[in-house]
This record gives sequence, C-alpha cells and structure tokens, in this order.
Amino acid sequence: MRGVAIFLLVALTGCQVVGTYSRDVASMSPEAEALAGARAAVSLEDRYGGIFRDRSAELRMRGVGRCLCEGTPALEGCYRYRLLNSDSVNAFSLPGGRVYITRGLYERLGADALLAAVIAHEMAHLTYRDHFRPGCDGDREVVLREKAADALAVRYLEAAGFDPQVMVRVLLMIGDALPRGSSDTRAEALERRTYGTTGNVAHANARE
Ligand SMILES: [Zn+2]
Repeated sequence: MRGVAIFLLVALTGCQVVGTYSRDVASMSPEAEALAGARAAVSLEDRYGGIFRDRSAELRMRGVGRCLCEGTPALEGCYRYRLLNSDSVNAFSLPGGRVYITRGLYERLGADALLAAVIAHEMAHLTYRDHFRPGCDGDREVVLREKAADALAVRYLEAAGFDPQVMVRVLLMIGDALPRGSSDTRAEALERRTYGTTGNVAHANARE
C-alpha cells in the first residue's frame, strides 16, 4: 500500500524536512529518487542564496569526490557538487547524488583532506539513504544517524588514502553551527569508536 512520508534534507549538522515521498521507498527506482532530489534542490538552492558559480571550486570538489570513489568501489561515482551562495557553515546532500557545500564552509576547507571529510560525510548519508528515514527533531535517532555517517566517512577517507583524523577536525571546525555541545559529542564518539581515544578533542578544547 502506498502512502506519504516525510523526505529529509540531510546536512553536515543534522537534517530538516523538505517534502514528502511515496512510502514504498524500497521499490523506488534510482530515477524516482533523483526526481525527488531534483525537486527538493529547487527549494534548497533558493533558501541558501542560490548556486555560487566557481569553476575552480567545482573542479576541486569533483576531483576530491572522484578520489573518494576510486578508493571505495561501492561508491558509484554519480555525484554532482555545487557551492551555495551562503555565509552559513554547512553541507547538504539530496537523493540523486547532489552534494552541496555553502561558501561559508568551503572557505574554511583549505586542505583537500578537509574537503574530502565533508564530501565523505554526505556520501555516507546517501549510502544509508538517510533522506528517506523518519525522525528529525534533534531526537536521539538523528544523533545516532549523524554519528554513523561520521564513522562511515572515516572508512571512505581511509580507503582513499586521506588522514581519517580530518573528520574530527571538521566536526570541531563546524562546532558553532551545531546544536550546543553536539560537535564535541560527535567528535568524541568518533575518536572513541575509531581510535579508542578522545585525545584530539580534549587537546582542541584546551586551546580555546
Ligand atoms: Zn550529517
């Protein structure tokens, strides 16, 4: 039986509802998913200042994304990268492989490894199809989903030869944009899960 369920815009910092989709998501074709993503893209781009055209940034994002895909055969490589003309610090993904980074975040991603961490996190959301999973009120389920995406991103980074510690650095970097205390929580969880330590997080906090 078909029904209607919420469709989420998934971000580096959490998620928000952007529309609805047919509830029988298991039988949704890739084309139908891409169409849902394309529809949501219109409102996302509108909300975040439109597309910021920067040819060299787009080439750089594509190159880093290709690098991640080459390291992980499971990633199919059908991703499109765009900058949003917004000072806010965030990244988003939508079904169909659309990955967006705000100009405000991109300007902080001087090293390719940092950019790779942001893209890998969004690829992880797409792999898990988090856009079609219910729950989006800062509840425990959403926090667990973010931590799972962080952890899968680390695996993508490692497979592509990037220093996986950059995922922790990105979480600390975007701390201001996250719910209070959330960046430390996610960074600590990631360090504990991946390295059995929270040394870097404690060190970063001590410098502040
Ligand atoms: Zn996320």
